[in-house]
Amino acid sequence: MFPRVILKGTMIKKSQQKKKTSPCNYKERFFVLDTQDLKYSERRPGKKPMLKGCIELSKIKCVEIVCSEIPIPCNYKYPFQVFHNNHYLYIFAPDNDCRQRWVKALKEETKRNNLVAKYHPNFWMDGKWKCCQQTEKLAPGCHVYDPVGYASKKPLPQLPDPEMGLRDAGQMKVIALQDYAPLGDDDLPLHKDKEYILIKSSHSDWWAVQDDKGNTGFVPSIYVAEKSSNNFQRFEWYNKNITRGEAEVLLMKQGKEGSFMVRDSRQAGVYTVSVFTKAAGSNGEKNPRVKHYQIRQTETGEATYYLAEKYLFSTIPELIYYHQHNAAGLITRLRHPVSQDGGCSQDIADHSKDQWEVDPEELTLGQELGSGQFGLVLEGRWRGKRVAVKMVREECMSDEEFKEEARVMMRLSHCKLVQLYGVRTRCSPMCLVFEFMDRGGGGGGNPREGKKGCLSQDTMLGMCLDVSEGMAYLESSNFLHRDLAARNCLVSKNNEVKISDFGMTRFVLDDQYTSSQCSKFPVKWSAPEVIKYCKFSSKSDVWSFGVLMWEVYNEGRLPYENRTNGEVVESLNSGLRLLKPRLAPDAVHQLMEWCWKEKPEDRPSFAVLLHQLASLSDL
Ligand code: ADP
Repeated sequence: MFPRVILKGTMIKKSQQKKKTSPCNYKERFFVLDTQDLKYSERRPGKKPMLKGCIELSKIKCVEIVCSEIPIPCNYKYPFQVFHNNHYLYIFAPDNDCRQRWVKALKEETKRNNLVAKYHPNFWMDGKWKCCQQTEKLAPGCHVYDPVGYASKKPLPQLPDPEMGLRDAGQMKVIALQDYAPLGDDDLPLHKDKEYILIKSSHSDWWAVQDDKGNTGFVPSIYVAEKSSNNFQRFEWYNKNITRGEAEVLLMKQGKEGSFMVRDSRQAGVYTVSVFTKAAGSNGEKNPRVKHYQIRQTETGEATYYLAEKYLFSTIPELIYYHQHNAAGLITRLRHPVSQDGGCSQDIADHSKDQWEVDPEELTLGQELGSGQFGLVLEGRWRGKRVAVKMVREECMSDEEFKEEARVMMRLSHCKLVQLYGVRTRCSPMCLVFEFMDRGGGGGGNPREGKKGCLSQDTMLGMCLDVSEGMAYLESSNFLHRDLAARNCLVSKNNEVKISDFGMTRFVLDDQYTSSQCSKFPVKWSAPEVIKYCKFSSKSDVWSFGVLMWEVYNEGRLPYENRTNGEVVESLNSGLRLLKPRLAPDAVHQLMEWCWKEKPEDRPSFAVLLHQLASLSDL
């Protein structure tokens, strides 16, 4: 209904040089991305920002990082491009994380547009494209554009040693399983399903290949498969000497939906895919079991292998790759390759999990910041950033369920949410790495820690606005917080508030906290339908937001301070509500009351609350 702000921040833009003679300059601008436009303005000390440009999102045809080795002539060194209305806008972010956030968000907002099929990965400079040397600025791109993939690429192996050289090794053909955009000068681009000649495979991670134009270069070996050959020993999902029974034991031990392997069938030359599932069987009951599918072959044709009739492939690696991404007739997608000697290894399909797994070597832990629901919270450093690390005590969290969900949570990215950067799941204890909230002297604080009488009207309204902005984002992402309260928000130095712990209550193992009848359940923040039937919705988050506004305008006082949970339920049932805080203007109190309507459908959405609060702040 209203444009919702998705990202904002300062970056540098290069002049778009719409006319041949327009000057080339780099200017710092404040960018705001909302659900309709990408706007940028000039910030002038003591004056209102001046809007300098506005690009309608619907006009954008490509957003991608720029890969270039040329020295960047401004302070921000991480370029990305926005191609719109036949113009190229180059924007420079201060760091790679920031660039990733912008590219990801812009791609997300424009993925349904009329996009380019190919784009230019390098700059337009001195009258030609640095990537393909074409001299026409509007010449079609030279690389396949991936409208969604940016954040989900499997990490690549270490780059090959340039000394390795390209030596001839026969005429074996390989086929590209997916596209690959070169990272270095010695690499060759791959185009999915195209054939290449394999010229060197002695290095296990990088193979040298030749394309049909005779260009040669390195590609990641996992991105290609030998054509018409069943040499797949090197794939982690293949277990050579394993019986059906042994496979079942291994897969059951993993106990993860979609754990799978390929093994030799008893019939020579035939292979079987064994996959673990917990899905309901034909009797409707959930029963963990291993299903076996024989890889079959048609009599004739080029593509002969199949698991489910309709989907034919010319090699087994291609078939497996396809089913890693599509169940297509199988009980489940092939999610986690399991190997005899390595347990459950990383899988191609779950790119994002790999990407977000924090490497213990990159994480250093420092002093204690506090202790929370799941255990200690420590200060730390990760990739040059200050972070807050939650060390999860095993008995406190249902970690299997969390790991599944962590991927979704890490994709949530908004300036009013405390960002989850990554998780360290492979070591014990499991750690959650969050954006650090600097409260000045004392670590991240929450709005309840403010000293009484310190907060101005502007500050209090600003805090509510911040939270409503973050919640409007969660609402639009169909994500429920379930435990919104001032204690779950953190305040930074300049009184900016960010929401934390979104969705986390689902993984708490303490029954006292999760059942509405028990002492630790946050009854005082919960909507009646949550207390009665545990019915969560974004409208139950809205109720909690009303209580949070009450906390803010009472400068951190606890709601229903001297009353038990039982007494609170009783007074809610008889229609009573928290009283108007002394510091709350009528308009704000009316919003609180709106949030506390008995019927969820009578409460406003966060988008409406955001709009209402924003209009109050303009007064
Ligand atoms: P939980 O919600 O898991 O119970 P909290 O989020 O309340 O735990 O964390 C406990 C304490 O750790 C907080 O009061 C705060 O001081 C500190 N803390 C938590 N997260 C951060 C963060 N992102 N930045 C700085 N300090 C933090």
